[in-house]
Amino acid sequence: MRIGIDIDDTICETWEYVKPIYKKHFDLTDEELNKNKYSRVLKCTIDEYYDFYKKIISPLLINVPIKKDAVKYINKLKEEGNEIYFITARSTFDMYNPYELTKQYLEKNNIKYDKLLVNSLKKEQVAKENNIDIFIDDSIKHCTNVSKEGIKVFLMDNIYNKNCNDFPKVKNWKQIYEKITLN
Ligand SMILES: [Mg+2]
Repeated sequence: MRIGIDIDDTICETWEYVKPIYKKHFDLTDEELNKNKYSRVLKCTIDEYYDFYKKIISPLLINVPIKKDAVKYINKLKEEGNEIYFITARSTFDMYNPYELTKQYLEKNNIKYDKLLVNSLKKEQVAKENNIDIFIDDSIKHCTNVSKEGIKVFLMDNIYNKNCNDFPKVKNWKQIYEKITLN
C-alpha cells in the first residue's frame, strides 16, 4: 500500500508550537487562534503573511515536536512493506528551501520514507499522480479534495477541525496504524 502523509500537524505539533508567535505577532485572541489556522485569521495581505512565515516561522520548524508514536508507527508501516510518501504544501512561497528543511527534519527524527513531495498545493493532483492508496492530513480542504479522487482519507484530529465529521477521524498514530493494518 502506498500511504500519503502530510507533515505539519499530521506527524508533528506545528500549530501548537508556533501559536504563541502568531498570537503576539498578529495580536490575535485565543478564540481567533483556535477557530482557524494560518493566514485565514490574520490581519495582513498574503504576501506579508508569506514573508512572516519565511523569515520568522520556517527557521523554527526544525524544532517542532514530533507527535507521539509517529516515528514508531510510520517506520513500522514501512518495514511491513508499505510505501511512505510525504505530501506537504510547504512551498517556496513560504520557505527558502522547503525540501531541504523537511528532509532535515525527517532525518533528525529518524523517520524512514520513500518520497518527499513539497510544493504540493494541490494535494489531490499529487496524490493521484503518485497513485496514493491512503491519505492522512489535518486539513479539511485537502481531505475533501483528495477523497474526491476516490482515495481513502483519514483526518488527523485538531481543535480547528473538531466539527468536521465528513471523514474517518484519527487522534494518534497508533489508531492510524490499526486502521490501516486491520482493514
Ligand atoms: Mg497539515
